Amino acid sequence: MMHVACKDLGLESCPFVAEADKPRKVENMMLEHIRDEHPEMIAGITDTQHSALEHRIREHISAD
Ligand SMILES: [Zn+2]
Repeated sequence: MMHVACKDLGLESCPFVAEADKPRKVENMMLEHIRDEHPEMIAGITDTQHSALEHRIREHISAD
């Protein structure tokens, strides 16, 4: 499985881990979680900043 954790993105107090069989799904799962649980992280950011966030998520996806 592929996974990425909120802790990987600097959200130390959040135990959430997005896990799926494809990186694309992990990324979407994490973006959905951020929208629901960490809306302050994406409130008012530009498209460029959003792309940077997506890139950061992809960078931290790992496999076990
Ligand atoms: Zn979280």
